[in-house]
This record gives sequence, structure tokens and C-alpha cells, in this order.
Amino acid sequence: MEPEIKKAITELGLEHVSFDAPLAGLTTFGLGGPAEVLAEPDSPEELTRLMHFIRAQDIPWFILGGGSNLLVRDGGVPGVVIRLGHGFAEIKIAVQEDHIALEAGAAAPTAQIVSLCRREGYAGLEFLAGIPGWIGGAVAMNAGTHEGQILDRVIRITCLNRDAELESTLRKDLVADYRSLELPEGTIILGVEFRLEQAAPEAVEAKVKDNLARRSATQPKGVKSAGCIFKNPAGDYAGRLIDEAGLKGKSAGRAWVSEDHANFIVHRGKATAEQVLRLIERVRQTILDKYNVELETEIRVVGVDREEAAE
Ligand SMILES: Cc1cc2nc3c(=O)[nH]c(=O)nc-3n(C[C@H](O)[C@H](O)[C@H](O)COP(=O)(O)OP(=O)(O)OC[C@H]3O[C@@H](n4cnc5c(N)ncnc54)[C@H](O)[C@@H]3O)c2cc1C
Repeated sequence: MEPEIKKAITELGLEHVSFDAPLAGLTTFGLGGPAEVLAEPDSPEELTRLMHFIRAQDIPWFILGGGSNLLVRDGGVPGVVIRLGHGFAEIKIAVQEDHIALEAGAAAPTAQIVSLCRREGYAGLEFLAGIPGWIGGAVAMNAGTHEGQILDRVIRITCLNRDAELESTLRKDLVADYRSLELPEGTIILGVEFRLEQAAPEAVEAKVKDNLARRSATQPKGVKSAGCIFKNPAGDYAGRLIDEAGLKGKSAGRAWVSEDHANFIVHRGKATAEQVLRLIERVRQTILDKYNVELETEIRVVGVDREEAAE
């Protein structure tokens, strides 16, 4: 990126802008290269200014949430990585006659919503317990478990569209599928309204605790990961196939297939994205050869490899 473009970005008056900014610490995988520019707008006005500039200059960009479903390649992310600031993390409650309307900014941590629901007895989102990341990312991924998916509870979302205009869309007008939400290219989710029910706090708490206990019993601890690497194929579980194929514990460099949950690739902080990608490919190819099933990655892969970054 030309120095004058970088200078112009600093002059947009955003809350935070940094260059060559490490992203590893902003993702649960904890690896990969830096963002050429990391921009953290703190209000819709700042974000709108940034998006007008990005579009006018035709700069590539990527919206980062809590970074828990992401693999950043080793050469980093060219262009601008946008991370919404605290100004987008507000949570509001409106008690309606027949439901609780919970409005959350896209940068509100999912865990914070679950805690609030547990404390106040708002039922409907208990299945999100233990899913890391932010609400914007959760909606973009249609995060969930066998107990439900987040879009089931959404009333509407507010977004900045590709022309940098605010737009509100009702759930019935959104097309969502297993771990995916179809949004027009260039859309940034800014806020989400949920429909919940008032229940006894103990009942919500019991469900949340159950979910946390199940996770604790089945997911790896003390290692870094991005959760499930692959989507479950129709009628089966990716983890079951990977386990049955004998791939648990198989490694590439310092990354390995978790012994606790076969659909997790984990490391202790020293692996590279290239090693993770190599292992993903090995797992995918083995499952294709053995079962004729094509596994599709659930995690999003962004950025360029080291060689490409050096060019
Ligand atoms: C230990 C562990 C367990 C997990 N368990 C589960 C699980 O049970 N179920 C499940 O579904 N997921 C699970 N995940 C994956 C992940 O936590 C979820 O998908 C999460 O909701 C992603 O949110 P995020 O904010 O971290 O998104 P990110 O990883 O930051 O981004 C994911 C995608 O969403 C897009 N995005 C992010 N914010 C926005 C926005 N504001 N507007 C538009 N697009 C946006 C990004 O561009 C990217 O493409 C797990 C992850 C880990 C590490």
C-alpha cells in the first residue's frame, strides 16, 4: 500500500489504526501473519468514513470479529482488516408483552450475552454457551450446535451495505443454512435483535451449565484451535469420519489432529498456518479416498502465504 494511502487512513479520525498489525493475538488459533492495516472504528460514522475511503481507493478489506473461526495465513492480510470497536458492543433489553427483545451490537462477545441471559432468565440462546467470538461473527456464521442455530432467534439484523448505507433486514428476508448466512458481498453486520422468552433464571442456568459441561468433556483444553475445522457432511459427523479413519493425533509440523475431538486441529502456540493447511488437506484427502465424502471447511481462511507476501 502506498505511503500516502496509509497517511490518508490515519487522517480519517478513527479510534485506532495500526500498520503491520499482528493478528495472531486477535484470533483463537493464535497464528498467522499481520494485517497490512488494522482499523478499529468505534462508531457507525467512523466506519462509514472508512468504507467510503476504502471503496473510493479500491482497497481490499476484511471484517474480523472475535477471530474464533478463522485461519490467517502466514503472510498476513493485505489491505485493511476492520475490527469493530467498543462502540459496537452495546446490549439493550426491551421487555415486550409476549417476548424479550435483546439488541446486541456486532462486537458484543457472545459469552456476555449468554451470561446476561443466564442471570436474567432469558431463554432461547443457551446453546451458544461456550461458543467464543462476537455476535456479528456468530450471525455471519449462523453459529450453533445440535440444539439450535443463532438465526432461529434473530428478529432482524442491521448492516452497513456495500454502498456504506445502513440497512435493516428482517429474519424472514435472510437466507441462512447450516453454518452459513447469505449476505450481499461487502455487507458488515452492525447489530442484531433477538426474540427471547422470560423464564426462571435457574432453568436457563441449568441448560447453560449442561452445555458447558458437555463441551468441557469433549473439547481439547490447554491448546489453541478455531473449533471445528470441517462442516458435518449430510447425515454424518466430520469428527466421526476423521476418528474412524485413524487420523487422531496425526500431525503436520507442530499442528496435530486433536486426540479429544477429531474435528479440531490444535497446537501449543508454535505451529504455522501452512502446517495447519497441510494437515487440513491431508484429512480432506484421506476422507475422500476412504469414504468418498468431500469435507467442506467450516473455518474461514484469509490472507496470503509467506511467498506471496514477499513478492
Ligand atoms: C473452542 C471453540 C469452540 C467452538 N464451538 C463452536 C460451536 O459449537 N458452534 C459453532 O457454530 N461455532 C463454534 N466455534 C466457531 C466460532 O466460535 C463461531 O463460528 C463464532 O460464532 C465466530 O464468531 P467470531 O466473532 O469469532 O467470528 P470471526 O472468526 O472473527 O469471523 C468469522 C467470519 O464471520 C465474518 N464476520 C465477523 N464479524 C462480522 C460482521 N460484523 N459482519 C459480517 N461478517 C462478519 C468474518 O469476516 C468471517 O468470515 C468454536 C470455536 C472455538 C475456538
